Amino acid sequence: MTISIGTLIGLLAIWPMAVILALWLFDEFRLRKRPFVPSKKEMVVCEICLHKFFCDKDSIINKCPQCGSLNKR
Ligand SMILES: [Zn+2]
Repeated sequence: MTISIGTLIGLLAIWPMAVILALWLFDEFRLRKRPFVPSKKEMVVCEICLHKFFCDKDSIINKCPQCGSLNKR
């Protein structure tokens, strides 16, 4: 079996690209599995002043930091 110099150069050039592609796909798959922002906070819009703020996902009533009114979720 003989391998031409062109084939050898081609294989040597493709090999690093294959490694990079494999790492990229692996990283992409790893990122898909977990949520983009791992947080227990949720964004809420105040019903009175339309101010946006973050609050706990578990809480039922949230106090707006700008106008002080209570918002029910
Ligand atoms: Zn408000």
